[in-house]
Order: sequence, then C-alpha cells, then structure tokens
Amino acid sequence: MNGHFATKGDAPTQAQYEHGVQVVDEDKEFNSKITSYLQVTDVAEAGFNYHLISVFGSQSTGKSTLLNHLFGTEFNVMSEAERRQTTKGIWMSKNKRGSMADNILVMDVEGTDGRERGEDQDFERKSALFALATSEVLIVNIWEHQVGLYQGANMGLLKTVFEVNLQLFLKDKQSTPRSLLFFVIRDHIGHTPLANLRNTLIQDLTKIWSSISKPQGLDGSRIEDYFDFAFAALPHKILQPDKFVSEVGNLGKRFVSGSRSSNNKNEHGQQELDGGVFLPEYHRRIPADGFSVYAQGVWDQIVNNKDLDLPTQQELLAQFRCDEIAREVLVGFDEAIGPLEEKQAEASRVGKPLVLADLGNTGRTTREKCVKAFETQASRYHKAVYARKRTELEGKIDQRLKTLYHGQLIAAHKSGVTTFSDAVSGAVKTGQKSGGAYEFAEIVESEKTKTLERFKKEAQGLAIPGVAWSNFKSQYALFEKELDEVSSRLRKEEMRRLAIRVERWVKSRLADSIGLEFNKLGSGRGGNGAPETGEKPETEKDLWDRIWNVFVSVVKEAEGRFVERAKSFEASEDEVEVGLWRLRRKSWVALRERIDEEVMEGNILLKLRENFEDKFRYDEAGVPRIWRPADDIEGIYTRARESTLTLIPLLSRFRLAATYAPPDLPDFIGTQPSGVEPEDEDDLTPIGGVDEEDGKSLEEEMTVLSEGKRQDLVVRFKKTADGVYVEAKRSAIGGVAQ
Ligand code: GDP
Ligand code: MG
Repeated sequence: MNGHFATKGDAPTQAQYEHGVQVVDEDKEFNSKITSYLQVTDVAEAGFNYHLISVFGSQSTGKSTLLNHLFGTEFNVMSEAERRQTTKGIWMSKNKRGSMADNILVMDVEGTDGRERGEDQDFERKSALFALATSEVLIVNIWEHQVGLYQGANMGLLKTVFEVNLQLFLKDKQSTPRSLLFFVIRDHIGHTPLANLRNTLIQDLTKIWSSISKPQGLDGSRIEDYFDFAFAALPHKILQPDKFVSEVGNLGKRFVSGSRSSNNKNEHGQQELDGGVFLPEYHRRIPADGFSVYAQGVWDQIVNNKDLDLPTQQELLAQFRCDEIAREVLVGFDEAIGPLEEKQAEASRVGKPLVLADLGNTGRTTREKCVKAFETQASRYHKAVYARKRTELEGKIDQRLKTLYHGQLIAAHKSGVTTFSDAVSGAVKTGQKSGGAYEFAEIVESEKTKTLERFKKEAQGLAIPGVAWSNFKSQYALFEKELDEVSSRLRKEEMRRLAIRVERWVKSRLADSIGLEFNKLGSGRGGNGAPETGEKPETEKDLWDRIWNVFVSVVKEAEGRFVERAKSFEASEDEVEVGLWRLRRKSWVALRERIDEEVMEGNILLKLRENFEDKFRYDEAGVPRIWRPADDIEGIYTRARESTLTLIPLLSRFRLAATYAPPDLPDFIGTQPSGVEPEDEDDLTPIGGVDEEDGKSLEEEMTVLSEGKRQDLVVRFKKTADGVYVEAKRSAIGGVAQ
C-alpha cells in the first residue's frame, strides 16, 4: 500500500533537488514540498528507518563544506573569493555516501554570526528548537582555537541549545529523548591531543549547564540526563587537503547504528559510544511519511512563539496521517468493492436478484488487506490515535460490507425461494408425466434441504472471523421460515391438483354408473313387474335409491383415495377435512349435472319411447308381437302408455322409495369445516338445502323436472306413442292386405 507515494505525471525528480531542499527559507516560511523530496529520495517509505542530523556553528566555519565531504551532499558553500554568507534558513539533503546507516537526512542550518545581534539570535533560537525537536545528532562545528573560549559565540549557541532542550522536553515526561552532541573540531593542528580538547569542552559544557536557569523541578538535573557527547578533530582543509579528506572518510564510518558500551566510561563518568552514532533512543519516532507534516507543525509553533508541546504535535500528526492513510486504503477498498456495489445496485434497480460470486472471499480478503495496510503505516503513529482511527476505518469498511452482504443475502433469499419452488413444481410435473408415481412430501423435503444448504453456504461464506455483525443466523432462520411458507402453498396447490384428479375420477365413474341406471329405463320389460298389473318394475320404482347408493359408494371410494394421497404429503387434518367437504359438494354437483344430462329433452323422450315400445311391442314372455287386425291394439297401447307415463312423475323428483323423501343431502355433505378459506369457496356451486343463504330449498335441489317440463314431456311422449300406435294399426291392416 505504498501506492500513494508513487510519483505521477510532472512530479519532481532527483535533478531538481541537486542542492537538497530548503526546509525553512530566510523569511522563516516552511516549505510544504518536503514530502515530495522524501518521496523522490525514497525516504518516505522507510517508516522509522531513517536518521536526522543537524549541523550547528558560527557562520563560515566550513559547516556546509564538511557536510558535503562527509555525506556527498551539494549544499552551497561560500566561494573562497567572495566570502558572503551562503546558507540561508535551513536546508536538508539525503546522504549520498554508501556504507553508512540507511536514509540519513542532513540539515544544514544557517550559521550565526557572532558579530550580529537581534534578528539573528531569534533565528538561532528558533532553528535550535527545530533541530532538537527533529534531530538525533547535532554536529557542533567549532575551530580548534575557539575551544576553551568560554565567552565565545559557540558557547552562546550551546547555552541556547540547552535552554530550549529543557523547555522542549519538559512536557514530554514519558520519553525524554536524548540527543547526541557531536563536536567536530576544525583546523586541528595536532599540538593538543583530542582527549584534552574534549576535556576542556566537557568542563565548559558543564559550566554552561549549571549557569542556565532550569524550570521548576529540574533544578537537580544533569547535562548527561539529556545529552551524550562525541568528539572528532579534522585537519585544516586547505593546508592539509589529503589528510582532511582521509579524516573525513574516517569520520564518515561513525554514521552507522551504534550501541552504548557499558565498560567504556570516560573520566567524567559518562558512557562513551561504541562506534556508531545512531542510538535507537535518539530517534524522535516520527514515521518518515509523517515527517513533513510533523516538522511543519513544530515549525509553526516555533515561529508563532507558542510553547512547543511535542506530545500534542505527535497526536495531531497521528490524526492527520491516520486520516490520510485511511483515505488511501479506502481507495483500494473502493477499487475492489465499488464495482460489486454497483452491480448489486443495478440488479436491484431492475428487480433481478443477483448473487455475486465469491463475495465472501472478496470481502474478507479486501477487508483484511485494507486493515493490514493501514496497520503497517499508521501503527507507527501515536498509539491511542492509531487505535481510534483503526476502529473508525473498520467501521467505514464494515458499514459498506454490511450493506453489500445484506443485499447479497436478500438476493440469495429471493433466488433461493424461486429455485426451490421451481424445483418442486418441476419434479411434480415430471412425476405426473411418468404416471403420477411421485411423493410430494419427499420432493419438498429434499429440495428444501438442498436449498437451505446453498443458503447456509452463502451465509457462512460471508462470515468474517471475530466480527459479530457477520453472523447471519437470523437471516437463515427467516429464509427457512419462508421456505416453509412456500412449501405449504405448494402443498395447497398439490391438494388442489389431487382434488381435481379425484373429482374427475368421480365424474367418470358417475357417467358410467348413472348412465347404466337410466338405460335400464329404456327397457320396459325389466324386472318381474308386468305392465298389466299396474305395478312398476323394480328397476323403475327404486331408480333413485340405486342412483343414491351408487353415488354414495363412489364418493366414499373417492374420499378414501383422497385421504390416502393427502396423508402421503403430510397435509394437515384441517386441510384434509376441507378437501373432503369440497369433494362431496363437487361430487353432488357432478351427479346433478349427470342427471340433468340424462333427462335432457331428447334423451328422456327417447328413453320413454323405448320404455313404451318395449311394453307395447313385446308380450309378457318377451316375444315381439305381430299385429293382426283382430288384436286389441288399442287396449295394449293404452296400458303401455299409462305405464310409461307413470315414469314421468318418478323421474321428476329425487326421492328414496322407503321414505318417499329426498336423501339427507345436508347430512351427507356435512357442515362446513372451520378451516375453509375464502379461496376454497371460490369455485363452489351453491347447493339448495345445504347452503342456507342460497335461498333454494332441498326440495328444489331435488327437483329433476320442473312442472312445465313435465307437462311438455307428457304431451311430446303421447305424440310419440300415438305415432307408434298408428304405425302398429297400419301394419296390422297391411299384414292382412298382404
Ligand atoms: P559555512 O558558512 O559554515 O557553511 O561555511 P562554508 O562551508 O560555506 O565555508 C566557508 C569558507 O570556509 C569557505 O571559503 C571554505 O573554503 C572555507 N573552509 C572550508 N573548510 C575549511 C577548513 O576546514 N578550514 C578552513 N580554514 N577553511 C575552510
Ligand atoms: Mg553553510
């Protein structure tokens, strides 16, 4: 996640920074481009793996020259001819020499001219504060001949450094960072050994320390509590150029990581550095990518003469940088998750549920990557701020994932319900095609298991370990509930289909049996009743009893089939009861329709004619009559006609022979069960005497032929009978004539 440091387009290049970068210009303005310099020089990504060195000393003491030789930098130096001050403000450049510690940044601070006062002293103090707030090592550049000149300009500078140091770290009680004061003694002639020079300097420093006014509570503090010291001497650059170069080379070797050696104490009781100058305790712990913001904040405080409160600066920096890093990290999140959010939004706009493939994995890894990237960079900053900002970032990420995941489960829910209901219907259809041998309950159960498993997999796939909101048990429960509702709806439909099948079966059975009963009417010879006796044959008298009995037994059988099948797919008691009630009603209506068909004008007239002809044309023994003129054609005709005519009132009403009353239809159908729902009644025909509000009585329900139809039928039948009679008469005469 270092993407945001990548240089783009017309970004600055190394060449533009030949002389380093000016951190603070001569008007005390801070340069906001420091970050870009750190990016170009690859320091910005270094985290804590960088070092800051500042150089101090009077003007024109060869500071810039020293830095350039030591670190290969190209700070401006005074030309021998002009002798004007060159370094203005504070410059910074990255070390260009190898075999030193990584990422050494060197700050060349405008020197003070001992002869000038006022403005200069103000800047001196401000730059000292700035250097101390940021640097691990302060190089103090000093001529050999100045050593021991306690009143000299350098001592004034050191006094300032000590004072601002106390002021600076007063607030920072926990860390009290130390710094290294590295004295580089220039134009060392060699008469006085370095050890002696060092002793003199340490004595002077101790004197200065005791002379400065210390804040309350720090009266007893010692200089060693804040500073370590190191010393080096260099020969005259112009007089001994070769030696100067080789000594600078030796000096350079010390700019590596170091440690404190415990058995190497000098005569002042101080521990000496063991080689390298960079001790971890000197580091200001400002991550490189936050250095620019931090330095600017520090400088603003200094310039405005505010109390410099480093812990607060570090908190502010942490807030600023954590926000920046979070924004960067969210760009990556957007790239991965944004398109998915759009797809989902589009699908929901057009109302098509879309289950995004592999969403759980994408979400989880993206979340992990983002948080990890944030952690890598931001955790270097102020711990409490980092923790808070991390929670904030997780909140933002989770809010979006949460919305996305909920959408995903809604889609999975919708498509799951559709798939389930389609699969059940499909299996039922296949079952029906292959002869109806399918177990509805089993189909529902197996499809439900499959569908639930799929949903569960999706929901579990979305889970993020240790993240409470990513538990979707309640969505799963909701989905299961809906599947149960769909199952019960499908079962109702299956019940309907079953009811239709059973009703069809009832109809076809009734068509056969009832047709058979009515056909018997056509034969006037049936049974043992002779037309002459006036008694109706058995087949005619108990017509309705037989029809009722056939009806009842067909319905009973149908009920048996219905119950058996409904039980097999686990219909409830209520559902079965309602189904049977509907079946009985529909069966009755079917019977009534069948009867109406039988007594339709043409049909019934034909039957009466057949009945009559049988009685008229055949004798008691069932032998066809050959009419002769002497026969009592008229008498036989009259008896046969009257006998058939008695059928008409019999056919007009559905009555049982024993009671001479209609069958107890209301009892047969039974009272309406409590489980009947409005849609169960939708396709029901009202039945007289059963449905009270219908206004039709049972008597009316049982009326097969209305009075008008009856009379009409009598007239038509008589005409038909008359026709047969005339024909018989003619054939009798004709038979004689032949
Ligand atoms: P700065 O103002 O401290 O940065 O000093 P400069 O590096 O600009 O040098 C000021 C002058 O001192 C230049 O003319 C240098 O040539 C000269 N100079 C540089 N190094 C040495 C040295 O080691 N000894 C002496 N005597 N002069 C030096
Ligand atoms: Mg200079």
